[in-house]
Amino acid sequence: EGIWRLSKLSVLVQNDPGKDFLQIHIGLLQEIAKVIKFPVASMLPEEAFSVVRKSFDARKILKEAKFVYTVDMDVSKLLSLEPRTWDFINRLEPKVGLIEHMPSEKFSRDLTSLVHHIKDSNGTLPREQEHDIDSGESHKCSAARRPRIAVVGSGPSGLFASLVLAEFGADVTLIERGQAVEKRGRDIGALVVRRILESESNFCFGEGGAGTWSDGKLVTRIGRNSDCVLTIMNTLVQFGAPKSILVNGKPHLGTDRLIPLLRNFRQHLQSLGVEIKFGTRVDDLLIQNGHVVGVEVSDSTTKLQSDCKKLGFDAVVLAVGHSARDIYQMLLSHNVDLVPKDFAVGLRVEHPQELINNIQYSALANEICRGRGKVPVADYKVVHYVNDKDENSPLKSESTSRSCYSFCMCPGGQVVLTSTSPSEICINGMSFSRRASRWANAALVVTVSTKDFDALNFHGPLAGVEFQREFERRAAMMGGGNFVVPVQTVTDFMENKISVTSMPPSSYRLGVKAASLHELFPSYMTDALRHSLSMFDKELPGFISKEALLHGVETRTSSPIQIPRDGDTYESLSLRGLYPVGEGAGYAGGIVSAAVDGMYTGFSVAKQFNLFHGDI
Ligand code: FAD
Repeated sequence: EGIWRLSKLSVLVQNDPGKDFLQIHIGLLQEIAKVIKFPVASMLPEEAFSVVRKSFDARKILKEAKFVYTVDMDVSKLLSLEPRTWDFINRLEPKVGLIEHMPSEKFSRDLTSLVHHIKDSNGTLPREQEHDIDSGESHKCSAARRPRIAVVGSGPSGLFASLVLAEFGADVTLIERGQAVEKRGRDIGALVVRRILESESNFCFGEGGAGTWSDGKLVTRIGRNSDCVLTIMNTLVQFGAPKSILVNGKPHLGTDRLIPLLRNFRQHLQSLGVEIKFGTRVDDLLIQNGHVVGVEVSDSTTKLQSDCKKLGFDAVVLAVGHSARDIYQMLLSHNVDLVPKDFAVGLRVEHPQELINNIQYSALANEICRGRGKVPVADYKVVHYVNDKDENSPLKSESTSRSCYSFCMCPGGQVVLTSTSPSEICINGMSFSRRASRWANAALVVTVSTKDFDALNFHGPLAGVEFQREFERRAAMMGGGNFVVPVQTVTDFMENKISVTSMPPSSYRLGVKAASLHELFPSYMTDALRHSLSMFDKELPGFISKEALLHGVETRTSSPIQIPRDGDTYESLSLRGLYPVGEGAGYAGGIVSAAVDGMYTGFSVAKQFNLFHGDI
């Protein structure tokens, strides 16, 4: 009885419908029938099965490429079967990694219904006598009114914190320096077509945060099946994401799907009473007796001092992302603890997508047809550990080990400008849902730490930011201005030369210029990149190619600082009432992990304001 989970069901590409992730089809029923030893696959009732996971597997060690499924079987729905056939199914036995009896129904709630469930089971809404007004906690709000919470930043972490807090009944104001997606889209258009960079509305700033004009990959290292990730995924489906993200082994949205999703998210927040202030930048925190009591904001579309306003709040959730360098500076001025953190810096490599398809899939490459075929466009993930002990290591003289790895790989995507200031160049990658462009790009980055910042004379909590800025400026100089990006073919980079004549085309729309990228970084980085590239070429023969173009620079792979906070309450350890969250605070890296961090911070703040009792 109950639910049985059947894993590692492999269906050959030719027997699979391909892109429909939820469909139970005859090829899959045949695999299920084999596992449960049922003689006639076509007799199995489709409604008894649901797809939990579907991934594509074209590893070279396999003779033929396959889709690999995990499926849940609801035994109660097999009752429609002819009773004599039950005999076969009675033989079902758990088998490690293949057949598993699920103890209970798997948790799969969206955030709104989760909060309602918590409210019901805790009997929650704030009980007035429990508000702590006379016990010295003078900064907690009075019992008579709802707590007023400012959430600063509408990236994934800010959106999810706002959602939880609003669902629990807090009075939430969401403050965003950038613009709503409609206006932001026009600003990004002006950047890509007319080279006008709006410093407050661009690829990093605006509704949805850095994750909006992005690749929209929803992969995370937190654990695909964890309750928190499933809750985020279900909530995204609630707001319009396709259900396939719940089962796809490598879920991906793409910018075109993210934009309407964010509009739905916004409308839901507004229906819960959240006030959303776009084009409003937080410039300062208002602090009394070591406790945040509000924020100072200004209209980010003008530069007039007279636009400054002071707004009172009971707590501030700071979800500003890793490009809000002015906020880091402001926090330092209030003696908020900021700790420098290791991160990674490097270049973005772009290959023709066809080349990557050929490397990864060989015979299957023809199936792809620019995002329309059965088989997903090929991606890759490479990592090399450059060990100082290794005889051939370029770091032998350094007594340091570093990792060099690919990051944020965008198959069928394009390279975009993620600078927030015209004197700096930094880039990243984005794609649309079909991933149909002619190019495949990925960052190739090398880990850096405080020792490296010191070597360039950057010290203190913001040394990492200065380190990033240094290479962003160097890249802007190498490009010659006007957002032109310096590039070099991988083959030239390997040989320390530039050949201006035979440059492959780039997906980057604002122009590229041949440059000596091998001279951009300190030698330990160039050597580590070069050494790793030759290793990657062994793994993916053809990766080093005249058609592969390196673009400079990729600096904002994660936050260069962390804002220490309490592990349970999520409150800053150095400033009461401040809740640092998401990537900018050093607690997430990517859309899903930022959303999870925002969600938990929302729960934690709600709990501290007695909006619910009990555990999550
Ligand atoms: P952010 O998304 O950075 O949001 C912070 C928000 O705060 C911004 O909207 C900003 O305008 C606002 N803000 C900042 N300062 C202030 C202020 N003073 N006042 C008011 N508002 C302020 N991750 C993935 O998982 N998958 C991907 O495919 C992927 N692709 C990416 C592609 C690109 C081009 C970029 C730039 C990033 C990509 N990322 C991707 C990373 C991902 O976008 C981030 O990890 C994620 O958005 C971090 O979420 P966050 O909420 O912490 O911060």
